[in-house]
Amino acid sequence: MNIQMVDLKGQYQKMKNEIDSALINTAEATQYIKGPDVAAFEKSLSKYLKVNHTIGCGNGTDALQIALMALELKPGDEVLVPAFTYVATIEAIALLGLTPVMVDVDKNTFNISVNEIEKSITSKTKAIVPVHLYGQSADIEPIMQIANKNNLFVIEDNAQALGAEYSFSDGTTKKTGTIGHIGCNSFFPTKNLGCFGDGGALTTDDNLLAEKCRIIASHGQKKKYHHSRIGCNSRLDTIHAAVLNVKLKYLDDFISARQKAADYYSKKLSGINGITLPQKMNYAKHTFNQFTIKVEGGKRDEMQTYLKEMGIPSIIYYPLPLYKQEAFKMYCTPDFGLLNTEELCSSVLSIPMHTELTFDIQNKIIETIKSFC
Ligand SMILES: *Cc1c(COP(=O)(O)O)cnc(C)c1O
Repeated sequence: MNIQMVDLKGQYQKMKNEIDSALINTAEATQYIKGPDVAAFEKSLSKYLKVNHTIGCGNGTDALQIALMALELKPGDEVLVPAFTYVATIEAIALLGLTPVMVDVDKNTFNISVNEIEKSITSKTKAIVPVHLYGQSADIEPIMQIANKNNLFVIEDNAQALGAEYSFSDGTTKKTGTIGHIGCNSFFPTKNLGCFGDGGALTTDDNLLAEKCRIIASHGQKKKYHHSRIGCNSRLDTIHAAVLNVKLKYLDDFISARQKAADYYSKKLSGINGITLPQKMNYAKHTFNQFTIKVEGGKRDEMQTYLKEMGIPSIIYYPLPLYKQEAFKMYCTPDFGLLNTEELCSSVLSIPMHTELTFDIQNKIIETIKSFC
């Protein structure tokens, strides 16, 4: 049994005919840049998310950068960001000369802590970038309340959570990425909706921000060769949009498959000493881009080595807090530390999670984890 973290081949094979003909059509139509598939995909994703605007771009990191550029912030403005996330979230902030302020996360949800956000706000704070980590929405309702009270923008890093939902206290639900001012999505192959390379998209209900994002992503031009501002070159290629148009139809099926696999892991691994299972929050429809357990007692690395010897892959997302990364140390004092972030960096372990998991594969993984614990 060959067990993999993700099984992109298995997923492709199920849709092979449809995808192959989309690829060939794109090759033959030769509109490789801004072809009709791009606009079609933007429209379909807007419909799926129930949001007014989707703007395709080169990747999720670009989406974050473009979103922040659209806010017209000044160097030195502070942007709150969880200390426990992928580097892209903070990178975009730092690249623009903004000041990232790293905030601790909740150790049960892995997402940015609402209390810690409140404590971190200063007169220079201009935006919050919550990340819906591992596929589960951050607690976005109180975050929006804090943002509204303090006049802050909210840019959602939805790279890992496309298709996830948040339930508000009034009973309404919204898809993540459509709640803050702008949502940033990635179609990196292993995300919930993956293309055949790099791809990304911005989503927003705000007409002005949508127009700005579109202009920024296109060299700062609305009219060809007339540049109203400094932008960048960030496009969702037609070939990726063609693939995404096929795969978007199955996104809810992909998410159901992930949820089913997560339920099975949770059922079979519950009550085992030494590990903590990921917590599903009432307010969130979790999409399980990752299934991340916590290994207690300092045994995480040992468990990972054991799993590897037994042929089970696993990945540590993420081994180092952002403030301990060489590149971002300058934003903190040397003694800066965040309790939950530190604890998670030394205890989290993501085990195989994808749309093609079978009970056989999961049983092997479950038995191996049990035999270690
Ligand atoms: C993947 C990811 C990104 C960046 O997406 P790319 O498309 O790889 O640039 C940003 N933030 C988070 C949390 C991610 O997981």
